[in-house]
Parts: sequence; structure tokens; C-alpha cells
Amino acid sequence: MDAAHLLDARARVLADLTARNLAGPVAVSALEDAISERGWWVDQWPAGVQYVAGLIAQDVQDALFADVGRWPVCEHCPAEAPVHSLFISPDLGGPDPVWVCEESGTEIAPLGGL
Ligand SMILES: [Zn+2]
Repeated sequence: MDAAHLLDARARVLADLTARNLAGPVAVSALEDAISERGWWVDQWPAGVQYVAGLIAQDVQDALFADVGRWPVCEHCPAEAPVHSLFISPDLGGPDPVWVCEESGTEIAPLGGL
């Protein structure tokens, strides 16, 4: 396993959770679970390493949606717009994952840059 990629993915997702004040025990536990699962996955398929950071972000996003709510919420659109999320583009998780507004399609920030 290429631990550096997983550490980088962990740091980037944690930074974006922290940026939205969501880096609590539930989110960190979801992040650790995702890293462990994707670490196994990338062991099986080393070429998948370019997708792993975006996939971990998507895993955490899915896990939080049930327990905590939307992450990350779009702060780019006008306040009167309905609350909506950002999603990872490309949908495969990489390479070079960025957060995109699901309503406007605007690229907001690279993963880790919220
Ligand atoms: Zn938006």
C-alpha cells in the first residue's frame, strides 16, 4: 500500500471537514473507516491510487449524510438559494478531485482547499 497517498487523502478530507466545523468524532470515525476500506481497495488495484482521495471524500460525504447532514454545504450561491451540497468532480474520485456546486456547476475548490 502507498501510505503517502492515504495520508494525503486523510489530511485533505480532514481540512475540508475542519473548514466547516464538522471534524468531530462522528466525522473522524467515518474518515478512518473510509481510509481503511480504500486502503484495502488500492492494495488490490494499485492503479486506483489517483482516485482514492476523491473516493474517500465521497465515502465520508455519504456517511455523514445519514448522521450529521450535508457536507460540504455550498456557500458560493446566493443565500436565498435552497441549501445544497458540493460534490466531487470527477465522479470517479480523481485525478485532481475538486468540489463542484451541485446547483450551479461552479468549481469551488480543490479537495482540501475549502
Ligand atoms: Zn451552490
